[in-house]
Amino acid sequence: MSLSNSWENNVRKVVPYTPGEQPKDTDVIKLNTNENPYPPSTKVREILENYDFGKMRLYPDPDSTVLVEAIAERYKLSKSQVFVGVGSDDVLSIAFLTFFNSDKPILFPDITYSFYDVWADVYRIPYVQKPLTEDFRINPDDYKCENGGIIFPNPNAPTGCEESLEMIEEIVKANPDSIVIIDEAYVDFGAESALALIDKYENLLVIQTFSKSRSMAGMRIGYAMGNEKLIKYMNDVKFSINSYTMTPLTQLCGAEAVKDEEYFQSTLKMIIDVREYSKERLSQLGFTFTDSKSNFIFASHNTKSAGEIFAALKERKIFVRYWNKPRIGNHLRISIGTREEMDALFAALEEILK
Ligand SMILES: *Cc1c(COP(=O)(O)O)cnc(C)c1O
Repeated sequence: MSLSNSWENNVRKVVPYTPGEQPKDTDVIKLNTNENPYPPSTKVREILENYDFGKMRLYPDPDSTVLVEAIAERYKLSKSQVFVGVGSDDVLSIAFLTFFNSDKPILFPDITYSFYDVWADVYRIPYVQKPLTEDFRINPDDYKCENGGIIFPNPNAPTGCEESLEMIEEIVKANPDSIVIIDEAYVDFGAESALALIDKYENLLVIQTFSKSRSMAGMRIGYAMGNEKLIKYMNDVKFSINSYTMTPLTQLCGAEAVKDEEYFQSTLKMIIDVREYSKERLSQLGFTFTDSKSNFIFASHNTKSAGEIFAALKERKIFVRYWNKPRIGNHLRISIGTREEMDALFAALEEILK
């Protein structure tokens, strides 16, 4: 590095997270970022249509009270057990900063949400990645060594595998000196939540999002649930960075969405039904995959390489997710779209695999 660029020595350098592609083209079938194929609740539309735009001149409620209250009511918690943020990425980032503050390494799986190592790097948190088993499962014994914190998604991403509540409890119980974060971005699609354990274990934080199961990825709403001490510590950090993170419109839309339980359940059912149908079709096409409890399927083909299938699908304007990485380089992660979108995918795959 040249002397004139010495200011660069003081720059916080990081390798950023790479989000899934958001193609500009609108006539694509987008099965690459686990978005919900259905629109949000019509209650959200009513809020948007009736919003008084003049209110934009005011700062929002920094505590996001309407949203926190709606979430607390839905999950039978007190307001002091709920933290909200700008998508669960924001909530996770604040949680890393708040709770992973030790010299000991934090632990997470080698195959998991690829933002965890990015946050660890940007915040200078040491970490160790614990290899999943051959069939992509977590071995709880890997999480019984000294550590500065633990995080993993359940169901895991991009594998879709659910670990049992018993196993999660075993890990939480074995680590009373660290915070264990369960990232439940996909839990609504048929897995069991660790929320049932938050009253029993002070060191457990559960994080969920409106982006997948509530069809609101564009609104950016995520939340954490845990005992009130954890939530207070997160709010202290949040209010030390940016008090006004959630727009008034976001707060209102989120609160209405969470109140529309009937619509929520009906879209979940459609996605789960299409997922199970997609498993049958994929297996007829020669794919093998984990038993996903999420809104995606993590599959590899018995003869054709994932890279080739990915490219051939993209040519046909069908986007799925592919990582050219060790251990998962022959897998595709396919988000569950509508029945029609999935049928278009299967028709394309029939051609490609012929
Ligand atoms: C999608 C996802 C998130 C983040 O979603 P937000 O849109 O920021 O709420 C977090 N964790 C996992 C595992 C995800 O797949």
